[in-house]
Formats: sequence, C-alpha cells, structure tokens
Amino acid sequence: MAQPLVVLQDVNKHFGDLHVLKSIDLSVDKGEVVIVIGPSGSGKSTMCRTINRLETIESGTITIDGKPLPEEGKDLAQLRADVGMVFQSFNLFAHKTILDNVTLGPIKVRKKSKSQAEKDAMALLERVGVQEQAHKYPAQLSGGQQQRVAIARSLAMEPKVMLFDEPTSALDPEMINEVLDVMVGLAKDGMTMIVITHEMGFARKAANRVVFMDDGQIVEQATPQEFFTNPRSARAKDFLAKIL
Ligand code: ADP
Ligand code: MG
Repeated sequence: MAQPLVVLQDVNKHFGDLHVLKSIDLSVDKGEVVIVIGPSGSGKSTMCRTINRLETIESGTITIDGKPLPEEGKDLAQLRADVGMVFQSFNLFAHKTILDNVTLGPIKVRKKSKSQAEKDAMALLERVGVQEQAHKYPAQLSGGQQQRVAIARSLAMEPKVMLFDEPTSALDPEMINEVLDVMVGLAKDGMTMIVITHEMGFARKAANRVVFMDDGQIVEQATPQEFFTNPRSARAKDFLAKIL
C-alpha cells in the first residue's frame, strides 16, 4: 500500500475554553475525494485550516506525503503551495489582473519565468473557462468566474492536495454549477481533494468518502451512497433530516 497523502493523527485544538478539534484522525489517499459535512460550528473549517497550517494545533501530528508540517519560513510557503486552498470568499488580489493573480505564486514560490508562468496560467484559465477575462480585474467578473479564477490560481502552484471550504456557498444559485463542474473535472483528473460542502450533487458525482463532523469530532465516515441513504449515527440522521 502506498502511504496516504494527508494524515491527521490525534489532532487537538482549543480556542480558549472551546475544544474545537477533539482527537481527530483522518487519512486521505492520493487521488481520493473526501467531503466534510456537519453542522455549523462543528470544526470543519478549523480542521481544514490546520492542514495548511493557517491554524496551529496543540497536540497530535499532521503529515503531507509522509512529512510533518513545517513550523515557519520558506518551508511554510512551500507547504501552502503543496496544499491549495479555496475559500468561500474568493480572496483574489483586487488590484491585480486575473492573469497576474494566477502567475504571482508560480513566479515567487515555484521560481517560474514570467513567460512560462503566463503560458501555464492561460492554459489553466482556459481549463476553468475564464480565459477571456485574463486581462480584467476581479471586480469585473461574476462571483462564479472569480471562484473559478481562485481555483486556477491554486492549481498554478501544482498542489498535491486541494482544500475547498464551502466554495459555492457565497455564490448566486445560477453560478454554483459552473464552479462544481470545474471541481468534478478536477476530481476526475485524479486531484486529491478535501471539500467542505453540503452540495449533494457534487458528493454523488465526485466523492469517494463522506466525513461527518459534529462538536469537534469525526463521528462517522462512509461512502456518499451509504451516508446519505443509511447514516449510522443518531447525530448524522438528525443532521441529514435538517438539510435534506
Ligand atoms: P465549521 O466550519 O464547522 O462551521 P469552525 O471550524 O469554523 O466550524 O468553528 C468551530 C468552532 O470554533 C465554532 O464554535 C467557532 O465559533 C469557533 N472558532 C472558529 N475560529 C475561531 C477563532 N479564530 N477564535 C475563536 N473561536 C473560533
Ligand atoms: Mg466553516
């Protein structure tokens, strides 16, 4: 067996008195697509943010490709390149063009030449369907287009794994599918993905596994089919009754 790409072992974290991650164990294989769902406040975002060290942990270990997360400095920039993250709010650089948004990281962190970075960026913008917007600024694009640029920007770093934290929840309904379609395409191409989402369509089309969190714990893990039709825990049943 190849080693898993992302491993969290007995990870704990508090915010003050709040025990927000309680002995989390999670292992994600290369090419696997894992959906994280659960009630608001259950710790989903915090768990994802620990994986690229946007949040520190108090105990336990996290490894990417067998290597523990770095503490600081250059290695941290490298980690953030290896572990791409797409947020609910698109977080593009407002004063840079779409093309510059996508080339900045590869030039700075991956040490690509400007011409190579631009060539690669244009191919990625085409892949997510926004190549015609390359010379515009973020505010000139729709939310769905901006989110697709955010995905392209992460992909430009050639990440080993992509984290998505509710990538469609800030979008108008008619734009949700254009973003999910890009994500389904990524999953089909073999990208390792950890996706916080309640979008059942995406779960059915692309997910290998559903991880259900409640109150800082992973309560249940199952295939999407199993989880959505026959959840085992009372907490998952209760949660699904509210969202379905
Ligand atoms: P989810 O993404 O599942 O909604 P979060 O990981 O965002 O949950 O939050 C889990 C809990 O931790 C919530 O009670 C939230 O209020 C709290 N929390 C999150 N971030 C912080 C922070 N930076 N400081 C203090 N409490 C936080
Ligand atoms: Mg969240």
